[in-house]
Amino acid sequence: MPESIGFIGLGIMGQPMALNLAKAGHKLAVYNRTPGKSAALEAAGARVAASPADAARDASFVIIIVSDSAAVESVVTGNGGILETLCAGAIVIDSSTISPAVSRKMACMAAGKGASWLDAAVTGSKLAAEKGELTYMIGGERETFDRALPILQVLGKKHIYCGLHGLGLSAKLAQNTIQATMVEVFCEGFVLAAKAGVRPETMLEIIQSSMARAGITDFKAPFIFKGDFTPYFPLKLMHKDLELAAEAGYAQGVPMPVLAAVKEMYMAAKAQGKGDLDYAAIVTVLEELAGVKVRT
Ligand code: NAP
Repeated sequence: MPESIGFIGLGIMGQPMALNLAKAGHKLAVYNRTPGKSAALEAAGARVAASPADAARDASFVIIIVSDSAAVESVVTGNGGILETLCAGAIVIDSSTISPAVSRKMACMAAGKGASWLDAAVTGSKLAAEKGELTYMIGGERETFDRALPILQVLGKKHIYCGLHGLGLSAKLAQNTIQATMVEVFCEGFVLAAKAGVRPETMLEIIQSSMARAGITDFKAPFIFKGDFTPYFPLKLMHKDLELAAEAGYAQGVPMPVLAAVKEMYMAAKAQGKGDLDYAAIVTVLEELAGVKVRT
């Protein structure tokens, strides 16, 4: 059944997600802070909203995917935020990776309007967003999850219910801790091999034939070998997620010594002005330290 959907945030992820919803026949009102990113959506029949509140007006679902906790707070509670118009009975699906505590606060504020909230973190990056094949990690009331599933199925291929509010985000922070660490360690190994004179393709063949094989290595290696750091997931956002994971570790009493070191590497890359590149650009920090490049 076509639904009326307010969609907020047309970045790397939001743009293809919104397009998939429009192509599936839903009635969309889209909002992006910086104008000029809605041409493809207008062509697909979406209305361009003047504010988050305008996008949420009369919507049964409001989907948010913006950078960080401050951005979510701004589009929800700020001047022109969705709380000004959010309908009783509506469901807000927030796919931004943000602090679980901030997300729980937003869920309470939505409940004050008679609306429901899901933290619906995603993994899969730009390509999966384009293909409608994201994997979702979802927190909130089970009944809200069930009601939102037909919409989420347009956007993703797997929807994992993690428990009450914030638990989807807690899972996401753990997942990105693992992923960021894997990429950093993979890059260290490749730099070590390159410095000794082992060709990157040879090293990749070895990794792919060993227990160290990983999907993220298979995906990122060709980009690293070409020095192509076009952002699929901007490095500054991965660093933000590691900061959130470290905060969660501190709050929960979970020591994460490797995360602490890896986080500083991403911070170094950001300090070098590489925050808008893909997070695989972490390799360039290691390359500069070692005086060698991992290129074919
Ligand atoms: P992006 O391309 O940088 O887009 C960020 C979006 O947030 C833009 O629409 C931006 O608007 C908006 N925004 C930022 N600050 C805002 C504010 N204060 N008020 C209103 N809007 C604001 O990022 P992305 O890759 O799409 O990621 C979006 C979220 O998804 C992040 O939380 C990220 O961690 C998460 N995520 C990303 C990936 C990925 O592979 N890219 C995968 C999983 C999860 P402007 O155009 O005005 O800047």
